[in-house]
Amino acid sequence: MADRIITTGSLSEDRDNELVLRPQSLDAYIGQNKVKENLRVYIQAAKKRGEPLDHVLLYGPPGLGKTTLSNIIANEMGAGIKITSGPAIERPGDMAAVLNNLNEGDILFIDEIHRLGKLVEEVLYPAMEDFVLDIVIGKGPAAKSIRIDLPKFTLIGATTRSGLLSAPLRDRFGVISRLELYAPEDLKKIIFRSAKVLNIPIDDEGAAELASRSRGTPRIANRLLKRVRDFAQVRHSGIITGEVAKESLDILEIDSLGLDMTDRTMLLAMIEKFGGGPVGLNTLAVSIGEEPDTIEDVYEPYLIQLGFIKRTPTGRVVTEAGYEHFGLKYLGGNDK
Ligand code: ADP
Repeated sequence: MADRIITTGSLSEDRDNELVLRPQSLDAYIGQNKVKENLRVYIQAAKKRGEPLDHVLLYGPPGLGKTTLSNIIANEMGAGIKITSGPAIERPGDMAAVLNNLNEGDILFIDEIHRLGKLVEEVLYPAMEDFVLDIVIGKGPAAKSIRIDLPKFTLIGATTRSGLLSAPLRDRFGVISRLELYAPEDLKKIIFRSAKVLNIPIDDEGAAELASRSRGTPRIANRLLKRVRDFAQVRHSGIITGEVAKESLDILEIDSLGLDMTDRTMLLAMIEKFGGGPVGLNTLAVSIGEEPDTIEDVYEPYLIQLGFIKRTPTGRVVTEAGYEHFGLKYLGGNDK
């Protein structure tokens, strides 16, 4: 299947740009004010004490800036950063090797930390708590456990939902911060900043149009900016105006609220096949051929923010606003 333009995951076309587009300091990081100001205090306090920062868990939908923020934390702490991910660390020995290679004060960033295996996770517990590694040598009755001291480090874990983490792992984070979808004004600032870095001419209406169709997600905002630049250069004078942005995004089948074919298919399936709900996550996933996790992490947060769907104890329902978006009549009663 072709990559969706509005997917929140990182596409190959994003990677080169993500390096140049990442803000490097807390001041340059736009939005997420609560998270930012808390971190600012913790970073200052840790620096004053000459200690590493407490372990930090960042959670929220993909593309909101968790990796970016982790790099910024390292910059602000004047620390080194090692980056890995849950699926990349397959065995407890791999985890031990990663930890053993850290330097004093380093940040260890583990993306998709919920995907660590249980045995791998257990290596992390004493490391996070006491900065030690417990290694078992040998097997059976002759097995011996030895303890190795580790340098003091800060673990930053990123995940889409904090509930995906096991309780013992979650409990070992001193700071747990949730990143929210961005308001259009913040996305507009991000778009202007990226346009400046990439030397793309854009006016106020152009940025506003892109911002309102980026699903609250900076990664999508940056991607749409680049796609629309192509249209602006080939079909117009090169400047992204409101008109140019509108026309290009219509061609890309991204509607005025940033919904694409998959969102529409999902909402219409809920309305037409399930009478607006309630419908269970798994049933919905099967009916539109998507993974339940993808629905929960990628589609739902934005549709919930728009007020088009609601979670109820018996399943998801489409709201009146959701019906109206398709010009359909809402008969009510599906959320009772
Ligand atoms: P995540 O790790 O949550 O999936 P990333 O940190 O990789 O997301 O962010 C995706 C892209 O969005 C990055 O290239 C970055 O440039 C941009 N970005 C994210 N948050 C911000 C922000 N607050 N200000 C400016 N750009 C941002």
